[in-house]
Amino acid sequence: MQRTLIKDLPRHIGEEVKVQGWLQTLRDQKSMQFLVLRDKTGLVQVAHWKKGNPELAETISKLGTESALTIVGKVVANEVVRLGGLEIQLEDLKVEGLAETPLPFDPFGEVLPDQDFRLDWRYLDLRRERNRLIFEVQTTLEAAMRAYWLGHDFIEMHSPKILGAASESGAELFSLKYFETTAYLAQSPQFYKQMAMAAGFERVFEIGPVFRADPSFTSRHMTEFTGVDMEISWIESHEDVMVFIENWLAYCYAAVQEKHGEQIKEQFGTELTVPSLPFPRLSMAEAYQILKDQNYALPPEQKGDLDPGAERALGKYIKDTYNHDFVFVTDWPFSVRPFYHMLHEDNPSLTKSFDLLGKGLEITTGAQREHRYEVLASQAQQKGLSLEPIQDYLNFFRYGCPPHGGFGLGLSRLLMIMMDLPNIREAVYLFRGPNRLRP
Ligand code: ATP
Repeated sequence: MQRTLIKDLPRHIGEEVKVQGWLQTLRDQKSMQFLVLRDKTGLVQVAHWKKGNPELAETISKLGTESALTIVGKVVANEVVRLGGLEIQLEDLKVEGLAETPLPFDPFGEVLPDQDFRLDWRYLDLRRERNRLIFEVQTTLEAAMRAYWLGHDFIEMHSPKILGAASESGAELFSLKYFETTAYLAQSPQFYKQMAMAAGFERVFEIGPVFRADPSFTSRHMTEFTGVDMEISWIESHEDVMVFIENWLAYCYAAVQEKHGEQIKEQFGTELTVPSLPFPRLSMAEAYQILKDQNYALPPEQKGDLDPGAERALGKYIKDTYNHDFVFVTDWPFSVRPFYHMLHEDNPSLTKSFDLLGKGLEITTGAQREHRYEVLASQAQQKGLSLEPIQDYLNFFRYGCPPHGGFGLGLSRLLMIMMDLPNIREAVYLFRGPNRLRP
């Protein structure tokens, strides 16, 4: 017999069906047993008359909640049943996966244990519809990203994650034993995206793992995350990259809103709106002036940079002033940007770069890159880097590289702002942080 999904049961009144799912609750009464079965489309009540099959009644009595079951029975309309006005009269039941008792925690209980404990039993926590929705949204989001790129002649790349030398600063690199030598885990596909520009691919994207040996214990940092990266050639400035992102993001938001907008509202209380174009833009100088006007005091070590409080303050300012969730903060000082960001010709202390903040959280960093070998090498030296470890990278620019730029975006950070999730641990399938390497 074919499986029927719970959401389709109203079309099968009077018929015998097979339903498969988890035992959410069991009420074991004197003559009747009532099971609430859950599959990913909903809940249904299953009724069993004990005397009809005492042996089965005994099996049911011993079932732990959350056991995985296959049941067969007849669908009957019953208006007193709150779950959809129908129930299944049980004929047969097979225990596919017995749940031990007690559960480490009841994912459907009124009070949930703290997040760290739930991460130990992540698969149980993911049984909640709310949590599964995050990954359904992620799936739609990635599909929309790809659809947009494919419609704009992009090539997908998969760059290596094991590197022989530090790619950027070196400070955030995990090292590993690699036969007789030491290798490093990639902290971004940056250099390889740029190699694709030198290779004449013109437009590339990559969605892949990124590793950061950053001992951060914040609600928005992980030591391993999924990076969404893109790079395009023949641009005139970072403005071309920003125009691309805002159109691409609006397209992705529309896809998610169409498919999941209602469920997101229901589960998270968040009204997902497609952002209007263009997104507001603020130069770093303007951003500093706004923060000053608001008496926001940046800690001195943040000179030229923004800290999370400043990002939130700017997010609020943009919301209040433009009723927009996004803002590009552009033209960052070279002192706080990597050596490969291109400098403004008329003000070489500033880069042609931007961060994109969504609801006051940094989700993207992007820039026009310096593509001229001599200038790039000199910028690296200005940053105190020795050229030898980055020579393979510098070589990409020796035989004709077009002007180009791109960005890197954290997939989980985008999910956080789409659904107003307070912590990145909720927005990722399995969190990896300085203190968490399991399960
Ligand atoms: P932050 O200032 O928040 O630490 P960053 O400046 O180091 O971020 P980039 O190196 O520019 O970030 O990376 C590009 C994007 O990748 C960021 O805008 C963010 O969305 C995401 N990202 C960066 N670091 C992390 C991390 N540790 N965990 C999750 N996402 C991250």
